[in-house]
Order: sequence, then C-alpha cells, then structure tokens
Amino acid sequence: MSKAFDIGLESLAGESSLRTEAVRPGGLALPNRGTFFLETFGCQMNDHDSEKVAGVLMSRGYQQVESPEAASVIFYNTCSIREKAAQKVFSRLGEFRDKQHDGKIIGVLGCVAQQEGEAIFKRAPWVSLVCGSASYSKLPGMLAQLEAGNQRVTGLDTDTDETFETEVTRRDNPWRAYLTIIEGCDKACTYCVVPFTRGPERSRASDSILREVRQLAELGYSEVQLLGQTVNSYADPTARRMRFSELLLAVAEVRGIRRVRFTTSHPSDFTPDIVEAIEREPKICDHVHLPVQSGSTRVLRAMQRTYSREEYLEKIALMRGASRPIGITTDIIVGFPGETEAEFEETVSLLEEVQYDSLFSFKYSPRPNTPSLSMSDSISEEEKSRRLAILQDKQREIQAAKNARLVGERFEVLVSGKSRRENQWSGYTTAHRMINFASQETELLGTYVQVRVTGAGPNSLAGEHAV
Ligand code: SAM
Ligand code: SF4
Repeated sequence: MSKAFDIGLESLAGESSLRTEAVRPGGLALPNRGTFFLETFGCQMNDHDSEKVAGVLMSRGYQQVESPEAASVIFYNTCSIREKAAQKVFSRLGEFRDKQHDGKIIGVLGCVAQQEGEAIFKRAPWVSLVCGSASYSKLPGMLAQLEAGNQRVTGLDTDTDETFETEVTRRDNPWRAYLTIIEGCDKACTYCVVPFTRGPERSRASDSILREVRQLAELGYSEVQLLGQTVNSYADPTARRMRFSELLLAVAEVRGIRRVRFTTSHPSDFTPDIVEAIEREPKICDHVHLPVQSGSTRVLRAMQRTYSREEYLEKIALMRGASRPIGITTDIIVGFPGETEAEFEETVSLLEEVQYDSLFSFKYSPRPNTPSLSMSDSISEEEKSRRLAILQDKQREIQAAKNARLVGERFEVLVSGKSRRENQWSGYTTAHRMINFASQETELLGTYVQVRVTGAGPNSLAGEHAV
C-alpha cells in the first residue's frame, strides 16, 4: 500500500490558523526553502512517522506538493516487512535513473533505509539522504547539512533511547490523530525485521503523551489512536510509572476526547487490567487487534512468539468474558518454514474457535537478518498461495455470518467519508466496523451519529441514519 498526500498548512497541528506561508510555532515567517513530496509505504506507524517528517519539513520552510516533478525534495518513507514492499521502493527510485533529477534532494527513510543503509547510494547514486526511523530525531540536522552543501548524509544508528517527538506534526486525518507511545521492539520473532529496522523499545513519557492529547483535543480531534509495534508493552519512563491501562484511562479523561484506540497489542503483554479498563471506560474503544500469527503451538515456538495456542486462547477468553462485547482482529502468516498441512489446519480451526471480526493474512516472506531466513523446509509459493486462499475464504464466511447477525442493531458512528452518491456517508463504529449509510443531512463529516444496520456483507455494513 502506498500513499501520497497533499494537504494545506491549515492542517498542521498547533498551526490551525496558517494558510499559505510556512510559519514557525512561535509565529515568525520562515524562508521559503522549496517544496517537498513525501510518499509513504507500509503500516500506520509509517503513516504517522510521515506526518511528523512533514511537520519537520514544513516548520523548516518547505511547502508540500502532490508530485515528485513539482518538488525540490523527494522522500520515500519505506517498509521492508515483506519483500514485495521493499521492492516497490527500488522501483520508485529506478524511475529517476533515466530522468533528470535536476539537483533535487532524494531521500529514503524508514525500514528499507535502515536495512540497506549506504548500499542504497550504490544502487541509486542520485539518493542523497538515507535515514532509519530510530534516527528521525536527527532529521532536522541532516537536512541542514544538505542545505549547507553536503552531498550525502545518513542516519542509521539504532542504539538510541530517543523517541521521535516533534514540535509540529502535519496530520492527515482531521478527526483521528495518531500518537506513537512506544517505538522499536524488544521481542525477537524469528521472521521479523522490525527489531533490526526500528531498534530497541523506547516508551514516551506519559506526561508528554497527555500534553499532546490535550493539545489535540483543543484542536478538535475527538479520536486518538495510540501506536506501537507492541503498544501494550508500554513502560512509562517517568517517576509516575503509569501502566498501559492507566494511560488509556488518563487519555480517555482528557476533555474533548471521545474515542481512544490502540494498536498493535502483543498477546504476551495483554493483561486483565486492559480488559478492565475497556469495561470501565466506554471511551476506550471495544476493539483489540491481537496478532496470533499461527494456530499451532509448534509453529509459534519456531516463530518465537512467546505464547502457546492455549495461552493465546486464554487472552481471547478474557475479552469474551468482558461486560461489553469487544471486536477482535488479528494477523496471520501462512507457510512459515516447516509448517505442515496439519499445523496449517490448526490455524484454520483457530479462526473457527475465535470468530475474528477481521483478519490481515500474509504469505511468509523470508527477510534479511532474520533467524527464520536460514530455517529449512521452506514452503513453495504455490502452496503458500493455496493456504492463504483457504484461510481467507474461511474468514470471509465467518465475517459474513457475524455481520449478518448485526442487522437491526444500532451503533454510534464517527462519520469520516462522503460518497459521490447523494446522501451516502461512511464511518466506523467503536469496534472499528465500517458502515456505509444513508442520511438526508447535508453535512455530517466529523460528527458522531447513530446508525441502524439494514444490511451486511463480509467486509462492511449498510445502514441508515437513526435520529
Ligand atoms: N508488532 C506486531 C505484532 O507483534 O504482531 C506486528 C508488526 S508487523 C508490521 C505486521 C504484521 O506483518 C505481523 O503481525 C505479521 O503478521 C506480518 N509479518 C511480519 N513479518 C513478516 C514476514 N517476514 N512475512 C510475512 N508476514 C510478516
Ligand atoms: Fe516484529 Fe514480533 Fe516485534 Fe511484532 S513483536 S514487531 S512481529 S518482532
């Protein structure tokens, strides 16, 4: 998935009155340094990192533009979680091989930058900046070096205890704000590049998180989503030592905040107090994304996931026992080295047992620097595709049946989309179910409305505005 974004300066958090000219948070006009284009690949963490990078660039006097052709600085924020994602970036960079790049600054950020490092300069000599996410706090300095005439700069350290906090963040969505509360990862799943590309776990101070949430609420954001690769491993570095569940409750208490989301939770750190916080505080959304990866304990051990099938199911039971229903979604990898047909069937049976609301499923992709790269018994691409299709068919069946049972129910929806078709809107419930619905109202974007479900498909619901 790749996204290019273009948005006016008025969307800069903290700078809502700005219009055409870049201005520092203190109000001083900035020199016009040029224009930048930023394209993002990958997950929500990358999306949010890009929002912060855009903020850094805009606060230095760069204006954001829609196309690389119109830009003097071109940044690709990259993903290397699977091979295909990493390849996309090199094909983008390849587009400059025959083109004039006219002294433009071209930079590679994120996981591919961290993984490939200075080798990127060899493969694409027109690149002048390579920076991994653990070094983003150094970006302003790196840009200054390029502006001062340096030909190439790199930021590739991962041995940092810093988090990437910026004074200015250019946010993409006017209602939902992302907030990284923990960066990096200390787990060691044998298939995963994240511990290498994003460095060790660093939690952000609770007082700084709460300060930003208060600012966001003042700017009109009503939904915040707390982000981290293992968001529930949050360890407050301040003397308050706030637990993750306490942080959720404190964020929900901020005046103006109506919804608090969090992703991604790691099953081993998913404790009963998190479910208790969801039960106690309706503003904490009734949705937990709890990646399982496999339904086979043998495969989970080989993946070093630190829990068994049974232990995972205990976490599911905690949620199923909650006083309000909790939507549960997951990630699954099929075709991990050595996964037998019977082990794959265990994953299919887990889907039946848990009845997930939705699922992200992937074919195992061997990645550089990961222990599973050297594991034997690799599964053929054809077989991985077969398993993926079986899994997705099963999940489609489950979702269709679950969604059909919701017909007639009423949900609160944050309206985030307007269809080209007249009177048609869309939005999400707190359990993160998508509803397309009809309403005679003329302006609903950003508001919370009650919607009655009138129809259901496997991936979304249809409804009508219930007044
Ligand atoms: N930190 C999260 C967790 O522990 O579940 C996941 C982070 S990762 C960005 C998102 C998903 O990508 C993982 O849950 C996993 O399903 C998938 N993934 C990671 N490495 C992969 C690989 N080498 N091949 C295929 N899928 C992979
Ligand atoms: Fe990767 Fe595992 Fe860390 Fe998730 S918990 S980011 S899958 S190493």
